Amino acid sequence: MTQLASAAALKSVMANYFSALGQAARDRSAPVAWCTSVGPAELLRALGFQVFFPENHAAMLGASRRANHVMPRAHALGYSQDICSYLTSDIGAFRAGETPLATYGLTEVPKADVLVFNTNQCRDVRDWFEWYGRRWGVPVVGVRSPRYVDEVREADVDGVTVQLEALVAPLEQVAGRRLDPTALSEAVRLSRRLSDLWGACLDTATHRPAPLTFFDGTVHMGPAVVLRGAPEACDYYEVLLEELESRAGARHAAIPGEAFRVFWDGMPIWGRLRALGSLFEEFHTAVVASTYCNSWVFAALDPAEPFRSMARASLELFIVRSEEPKERYLERMARFYQVDGLIFHDCRTCPNNSNTRYGMPQRLGDRLGLPTLVLDGDVNDLRCFSDEQARTNVEGFVELLADRGATARGSR
Ligand code: SF4
Repeated sequence: MTQLASAAALKSVMANYFSALGQAARDRSAPVAWCTSVGPAELLRALGFQVFFPENHAAMLGASRRANHVMPRAHALGYSQDICSYLTSDIGAFRAGETPLATYGLTEVPKADVLVFNTNQCRDVRDWFEWYGRRWGVPVVGVRSPRYVDEVREADVDGVTVQLEALVAPLEQVAGRRLDPTALSEAVRLSRRLSDLWGACLDTATHRPAPLTFFDGTVHMGPAVVLRGAPEACDYYEVLLEELESRAGARHAAIPGEAFRVFWDGMPIWGRLRALGSLFEEFHTAVVASTYCNSWVFAALDPAEPFRSMARASLELFIVRSEEPKERYLERMARFYQVDGLIFHDCRTCPNNSNTRYGMPQRLGDRLGLPTLVLDGDVNDLRCFSDEQARTNVEGFVELLADRGATARGSR
């Protein structure tokens, strides 16, 4: 797998982001807000906060394989081994005085002046933020969102919009300034632009061969996660898109000899990203797209209607939806990326983003006529993942894809 040249620009954007956060936490030049991954980041930026995303921090703990070392510190506080391993990694690391942000010159996570959640993805984020809120004696505010949403109804959008609007007063108090509506519209405009650019980057994987894989996406999505509403993220994705389009035009394959194309549903397994990327490459199989990377595409955002469109975007998200709209989405994705099969990650500590437990892989496999594979694992807890088992399963899955390909060729 050749590294994308944009990786250098990515490193610089992320380094600047963390450096600004560290500076704000040190000299109090700007207030610091913690925000859940799809919380109201645009509102926080418009109010002048430096915004920190603990899920990104937890993913870094997973990717650096520090998670299992620190999680017992959170388990010892009574946080179960069965709940979100992002939560237990992050709180455990805090208690152990460890952070992968040391790479960026931060000796600890930036202390929050306020923590802002949206429970559209799970309850864990709120419990997670409340632990820090109690520890630091700072406010924890947020949106209590509907979940398992069928069609997104106007009544649901109304309910979330009202809650977002109600956040303004407490956040203004922490920020020490009034919300400028023009600044909010601009933050939403930038977020939408970022989302469109990131979506266009992901869409380049419709080319054969695909110029990027899910594994590349998990790395290059960093600015889409942490810099919503900031102009530098848009600049970065313009660079990345140009490189991906040029790769696609030159038929430069992310997986040399791409023989099969598959879709990944669910969370990454951060501590085994590289190993899994190499495993699929060994079998000439490109994991061309995922629900995970596509979760940072927010087509509903509209600067003319900032609160309402933020509410709608948060409700339209894949993770928030019930089985039927999720299946319709996966069907569309399977066709759009022309995949030969689907992989579902059964993430042990995240039932919220695992779609394996109520028959979806079987239903979709039957409907689409495509093989499916359920991979057992976890987002951060590597005790739930076996390299040997994964190899056996992926090998068997690829053999199935090859047999189907041979049968299809034979029947022509
Ligand atoms: S969605 Fe899953 S991984 Fe993410 S914070 Fe919630 S429980 Fe943890």
